[in-house]
Amino acid sequence: MHEMSIAQSLVDIIKEEMDKHNVTKLIKVKVKYGQISAIVPEALETAFQVMTVGTRMEGAKLETEEVPLRAKCRNCSKEFSPQEDDLLIMTCPFCETEFGHEIISGKELYIEEIEAE
Ligand SMILES: [Zn+2]
Repeated sequence: MHEMSIAQSLVDIIKEEMDKHNVTKLIKVKVKYGQISAIVPEALETAFQVMTVGTRMEGAKLETEEVPLRAKCRNCSKEFSPQEDDLLIMTCPFCETEFGHEIISGKELYIEEIEAE
């Protein structure tokens, strides 16, 4: 379960941001994760809650939002969204090229918003 190490990185980043802005209580953090980043949001939330007990982040709400997969065809350069059950072979809907497309989004993980006081 790699959510533990991801949660740890989130905690580190949030802590740094809170220090920078001189705030003492975390209210909410919003995280966006890619459709193929292999994140289980429930596991990430649980890891985050466990890890923040006794800190300024305890009780904060962790919101997650999935970023859909977008690919760019290597042949015709058009962008498309492959279906979830189609991730191994991503057929371009425009020219039907099947392999070698560039992934534009869907692998990322980042903090979009931190709310604190
Ligand atoms: Zn194409």
